[in-house]
Amino acid sequence: MKISREIRDVVQRRAHGVCEYCHLPQDASVLPHQVDHIIGKQHHGTDDLDNLCLCCIRCNLKKGPNIASLDAETGRIVPLFHPRRHSWSEHLSLDQDGRLHGLTPEGRATVQLMDMNDISRVSLRALLLRRSRYP
Ligand SMILES: [Zn+2]
Repeated sequence: MKISREIRDVVQRRAHGVCEYCHLPQDASVLPHQVDHIIGKQHHGTDDLDNLCLCCIRCNLKKGPNIASLDAETGRIVPLFHPRRHSWSEHLSLDQDGRLHGLTPEGRATVQLMDMNDISRVSLRALLLRRSRYP
């Protein structure tokens, strides 16, 4: 099912226009942020607002239909960070150089799977940080 314009607007407002995984602001992205099914339809995720989040194109392409990944520190398969159920600051942190760090198995698996510390993403974050535009 296609997400309606109304639902898209609600999701965008609720997220204050930032990707709910990496916190990239919409106005710093060339491509529009997308509405992501946190638990994909193929995993019986619904179109309910509790299962939707705002997601930048880079996070969305890397996340794909995944709902879990490997935490390199523990070697365990863990669920990905869930923007509706988890607190961002409990699972993720940002350093002064623009790198994101997972603080928990879920956070680490998410940073790794979504390639959040790709050099171009870190460079953009560092630039936005210097201009006080991130997160
Ligand atoms: Zn993102």
